[in-house]
Amino acid sequence: MKNKQKIVSINNLKVVFDIKQSFINELFSKKRKIVKAVDGISLDIYEGEIVSLVGESGSGKTTLGKAILNLAPISEGEVFFKGGTVDFKNKKEVKKFRQKAQMIFQDPYQTLDPKSLIFDAVVEPLEVNNMLKTVAERKEKAVKALEDSGMAPGEDFLYRYPYELSGGQRQRVAIAGSIILNPDFIVADEPVSMLDVSIRTGILKLLLDLKNSRDLAFLFITHDLSLAWLISDRIAIMYLGIIVEIGTSDEIIKECIHPYTKALLSIMPVPEVNKNRVRKVLTGEIPDPTEIPKGCRFNTRCEFAYDRCFVEEPELTKISNDHFVACHLATEEIHVKS
Ligand code: SF4
Repeated sequence: MKNKQKIVSINNLKVVFDIKQSFINELFSKKRKIVKAVDGISLDIYEGEIVSLVGESGSGKTTLGKAILNLAPISEGEVFFKGGTVDFKNKKEVKKFRQKAQMIFQDPYQTLDPKSLIFDAVVEPLEVNNMLKTVAERKEKAVKALEDSGMAPGEDFLYRYPYELSGGQRQRVAIAGSIILNPDFIVADEPVSMLDVSIRTGILKLLLDLKNSRDLAFLFITHDLSLAWLISDRIAIMYLGIIVEIGTSDEIIKECIHPYTKALLSIMPVPEVNKNRVRKVLTGEIPDPTEIPKGCRFNTRCEFAYDRCFVEEPELTKISNDHFVACHLATEEIHVKS
């Protein structure tokens, strides 16, 4: 990605939520209960790049994606768009940024208003941003967005209702709405997890086509490492609010170092990847995010944890050009044998 422009950068981004406690607990508890959903993440995403964010439920993936687009409150840190800081207190600036940075949600059934025509759903971003006055202009844009999203001829879909479409077609309509303003960056939050397996490939191929034809940058959020491998240039593994490993897709799949990544990888249903790998069972649940373990936050589930892991939090450290990992074993150059 060396010759590509940075589209979105985030610097030490934090999202902290207060937990509402009962009146009695609030009265007697001295400590404020908080969830550090995103706990200091820095990341650059380049034009024409797909970065996948992978982790279990509760790792903070969706919150991070929303925070970048100002859909979740940022407690600390900065978001940069094409090199300039985005001032989320400035409404005009936020509006301009949101024209260029869009989101595709997980559930195409909830994204679309069942009472609205497909035409209205697709042109909504144009309406919100007061662009294109005539119906003919809007129609032309809607048809193009639908056709670019694999719904051809676009004219045939404009005056239908969402209930007349399949799940895959609804997700394509949602994608058409997200590209109608020609964005540079899209957060795609589990965009195929609600779809039948047979339809998923078509949607993934569409996202890849959009990346290639428009040089679009994506943050692709998924819990499925095999999907991430199929679609991404780089993969970031998230655990309890932080990135624990990041690298090119091949580095993460073939040369991963963090024990959490290895555990996720060993349950991947791809025989060629796991041919000589001992299957690791990830025991226990992800810890309560209000009680993040001291030291390495993976220490409660890590079979390699040793003294240092319980007192010192490992930093994300460079292993090679694009490959970074947060594990004491890696920095001590004692790679875990797979
Ligand atoms: Fe496991 Fe320690 Fe590495 Fe954390 S730092 S992943 S506990 S070995």
